Amino acid sequence: MKTAIYPGSFDPITLGHLNIIKRASICFDRLIVCVMVNSEKDEGLFSPAERVALIRQVVDRLSNVEVDSSSELVAEYARKKKACTIVKGLRAVSDYEKEVQMATLNRKLNPRLDTMFLPSGAKYTYLSSSAVKEMAWYAADLSDFLPREIIDQVNERVQQRREASKV
Ligand code: ADP
Repeated sequence: MKTAIYPGSFDPITLGHLNIIKRASICFDRLIVCVMVNSEKDEGLFSPAERVALIRQVVDRLSNVEVDSSSELVAEYARKKKACTIVKGLRAVSDYEKEVQMATLNRKLNPRLDTMFLPSGAKYTYLSSSAVKEMAWYAADLSDFLPREIIDQVNERVQQRREASKV
């Protein structure tokens, strides 16, 4: 069975992420979308557990996709899950340098692990979770950017933060 890991922060999952998940899930028997928890600096819009729950709502119908979270190194996590591949989406040249560096490092840490890059869906090359949060802050329509199942939850959380930030 060929297992792949799709790691990221997913704070929150966007249509760009979902496009990568759908395409990667066709290439592997099992795809694990893993919310990677960054040591100290994980002050996200959603907690890791909430991000996992949002992703689960969205990938519900993809039968070979699992959702998890981890605070380990991806290479270590992949070893435990017996995964052979890390999947990454590439939006622009600016993603490339960092991602190739990480792929090479991960291969050094776990020589049986390779990274597969998928070019971002053409409609999503400009899209990132942080851009979505910025737009939500100004109450923009998010339907071109987020899976519809989670739009209300994202808007609600951002507006709560907005209220809390008012002096
Ligand atoms: P971000 O916070 O920048 O949206 P994440 O850390 O959650 O991104 O991203 C996880 C993975 O998904 C990375 O490989 C990233 O390059 C990829 N990704 C993020 N947004 C998109 C997109 N719009 N299209 C394709 N891949 C994407």
